[in-house]
Amino acid sequence: IALLALTACSERSGDGGGEEAGSAKGFAANSLIGVALPAKTSENWVLAGDLFTNGLKEAGFQSDVQYAGATSTVADQQAQISAMVTKGAKVIVIGATDAAQLTTQVEQAKQAGATVIAYDRLIKNTKDVDYYVAYDNFKVGQLQGQALLEGMKAKKPNGPYTIELFSGSPDDNNSGVFFDGAMDVLKKEIDAGNVVVGSGQKEIKQTATDGWKAENAQRRMDSLLTSTYSSKTLDGVLSPNDTLARAILTSVKGAGKPLPVVTGQDSEVESVKSIVAGEQYSTINKDTRNLVKETIEMVKALQAGNDPKTNDTESYNNGVKVVPANLLEPLIVTKKNVVEAYANDPKLAPLTTGAK
Ligand code: BGC
Repeated sequence: IALLALTACSERSGDGGGEEAGSAKGFAANSLIGVALPAKTSENWVLAGDLFTNGLKEAGFQSDVQYAGATSTVADQQAQISAMVTKGAKVIVIGATDAAQLTTQVEQAKQAGATVIAYDRLIKNTKDVDYYVAYDNFKVGQLQGQALLEGMKAKKPNGPYTIELFSGSPDDNNSGVFFDGAMDVLKKEIDAGNVVVGSGQKEIKQTATDGWKAENAQRRMDSLLTSTYSSKTLDGVLSPNDTLARAILTSVKGAGKPLPVVTGQDSEVESVKSIVAGEQYSTINKDTRNLVKETIEMVKALQAGNDPKTNDTESYNNGVKVVPANLLEPLIVTKKNVVEAYANDPKLAPLTTGAK
């Protein structure tokens, strides 16, 4: 994976220290495994909870799967992780609500001898995280950037193209990683003048969507349309996920403007329908079933006293150490490949029959 310039928000590369990972290797087969997930800000999180509960049970473990609530998310998650430590969990899998606010809890976990696996989102500024398992989120951003360019070219062969940029919640480490990946593709085009950010808002801070909330993206799009697009045409919008993509499309429709090319991520039901209907341009398939399966494989390896599988030991520096990562390949999905992309997904496959 190519190294890259980091924004303040994203921690992805560099040369950190690092200590021996995996303090709880080799433990009883029916041990308790804790899974602390963030609020249900997108469908992937809803799916993950059920998959963990069922998958851990099938593998013979006891499980404690918790979600942070919609409002006091950080405090909820901190309390849930502490409770898992107290109950003696051998592995704690964490989809962090706020990457930088779990230092105390993961330290408690390590002191109690548990192994900490960061799931989908990296946990920052601590030596007490052992592994990271996720889809390659930098690649997700690159695929989004490429899809945006390709979608705009297909509609209008020659630029310059006018776009707007949206990013995710600033407390989620992934938001910076997605944005950096997309800018890795878009920046050259912007510098060359082929792509113009209509509002001039190119810094990640200006493009952020607090809490990954649809209403925040919709409000920002409403105001961009008023301030910048009363006479100009908006060709494309970089959206980091499906929930925000649909909010952006709702805003544009509300303003009665032609729909721009809008990217997304997560393969949410309503977005897959929107792609089939020719509205949202793209999404990303980060099949949650595979990510949970890989995570449970890591837990099983630890239980058996082995090192879990990792395939990247240099990209994810959390500010204190490089966290060994098990990265999965994301897939870009547009109307062109939507049928093949979801052929083996019983929930999504039936939605794609209208695409061809
Ligand atoms: C996940 C995305 C998701 C977003 C909002 C991110 O950390 O990687 O898949 O869209 O959180 O829930």
